[in-house]
Amino acid sequence: MSGLGKGITMASVGRILKDHGYKIVPIKIDPYINIDAGTMNPFQHGEVFVLADGTEVDLDLGHYERFMDVDLRREHNLTTGVVYSAVIKRERRGEYLGQTVQIIPHITNEIKARIRAVAAKSGADVCLVEIGGTVGDIESMPFLEAVRQMHGEEDENDFLFVHVTLVPTTTQKEQKTKPTQHSVKALRELGLQPDLIVCRGEEALQTGVKEKIAMFCNVRKEAVVSAPDTEDIYEVPLLLEKEGISAYITRKMQLEQLEQSKEDHAWEKMVERRKSRRKSCTVEKIRIAVVGKYAGLEDSYLSIKEALKHAATTLGCEVETRWVEAEVLEVEAEAEVEASFFDGFDGFQGVLVPGGFGVRGAEGKIKAIEYARTRKIPFLGLCFGFQLAVVEAARNLAGLEDVNSSELSAATPHPVVCLLEEQAGVVEKGGTMRLGDYEVFIKKDTLAAKVYEVHGVHGVHGAARVVERHRHRYEVNPAYAERLEQAGVIFSGTDRSGLRKEILEIPATQHPFFLATQFHPEFKSRPNKPSPPFKAFLAACLKNKKN
Ligand code: GLN
Repeated sequence: MSGLGKGITMASVGRILKDHGYKIVPIKIDPYINIDAGTMNPFQHGEVFVLADGTEVDLDLGHYERFMDVDLRREHNLTTGVVYSAVIKRERRGEYLGQTVQIIPHITNEIKARIRAVAAKSGADVCLVEIGGTVGDIESMPFLEAVRQMHGEEDENDFLFVHVTLVPTTTQKEQKTKPTQHSVKALRELGLQPDLIVCRGEEALQTGVKEKIAMFCNVRKEAVVSAPDTEDIYEVPLLLEKEGISAYITRKMQLEQLEQSKEDHAWEKMVERRKSRRKSCTVEKIRIAVVGKYAGLEDSYLSIKEALKHAATTLGCEVETRWVEAEVLEVEAEAEVEASFFDGFDGFQGVLVPGGFGVRGAEGKIKAIEYARTRKIPFLGLCFGFQLAVVEAARNLAGLEDVNSSELSAATPHPVVCLLEEQAGVVEKGGTMRLGDYEVFIKKDTLAAKVYEVHGVHGVHGAARVVERHRHRYEVNPAYAERLEQAGVIFSGTDRSGLRKEILEIPATQHPFFLATQFHPEFKSRPNKPSPPFKAFLAACLKNKKN
């Protein structure tokens, strides 16, 4: 079934192999027809993750980047849309020389060729491929067929097939193997025999249960691996390793044993730090209100949640995110806003307004920003959160009337946030935003310079340069920038030209921490390398709590 943790399993296997010194490369296959995840509703699929090259992808690629500490690109995500459009294009060019173009062999060949090309180019020892969806879905059939063929074409030791399955527990605490037996049967009907079975469940498998799965599913006992629920997803690589997964993989694939000295233990140490902190009763707990639209589904802000965790791990505190539905804040009286903020929640030390689209909930987010600004609560605004902080400043600091973003009100006389110049006339929605890595130049002696620990000695106009990921169609209207700065905010980060605003802040003399970014720093955060804005924000929240 979906939502089982296939992505985390794959990411964890990658991490383990990497820690043992092997070079790895991941590929995610998403059998949906969409070319990429960019047009998909985060409410259904969770967040849209953005790669450095601007490809909008499934959130599993975020897990891969965070777990394996790699930078992925377009070719690392294969969808039905990508494969079919390539084949159809080739057909139009006449490259199939009059043949009837079919799923087998043309689609399956395309899939295999793409997997092999990525693997070859990477120079990796192991290429890991995750096939999204579930066995039996119509959409995933061509992909399963392609890997079935690969099994026959590659050397026996160069191919290993992992099946992730659910082992439910009954109310009598009995672990049931029947669903696993059936899914393996379904795989066998497609000609696929798993080499390794990863069993998801509440608890580790009992010995008898492992033996039963091994026998019925025709694998060795050591190839049945427990993957029990855990409080901390970053612990999964350690849990799998304890089950002997890498020993099995390296033996089965006859990977050369690498020297122990090449092993990396940083991940293990990071997980241990997190664990001891969770158990300690003296650790500071920071509560952050994330004011968003899809607050009902935490997965739509997955990278933000993870980035907060990374910052907390580094700072030695615990973080708890409280998802506040922005629409709830759209009430008139301030007392009510306060009441709904504090409702059932004993205080929070910071407010975060994440990215978003469209008018629903926007006024509630603006209220939350005003609240954080006037009450001097640490604030971090990301993308839409940045744009709305600009609207808030224009309304309440610059005193302009009827201010808005033109995304939210076409008729506003003061569009302080407007469509990017290059977006005029763009009709296609897929992959047309300002996407991926762009450089940001940071002004000297600002909060932003402190956050990024850059000192503005080189670069443009004496500013220092960082690179962050983007995903937006609107921007701060340059015509209003000066007026806003006169009203007390600073645009401390811009593009190379200085016209496109990237970071907004309120000087440290006026506010303990008020920073908003047009980009999405959460996408570059890693467990052992927290994103600078997140780390600085959380540090300010920690200080706020102590005060
Ligand atoms: N809706 C805004 C824009 O398109 C913000 C996008 C975002 O938050 N990712 O510019």
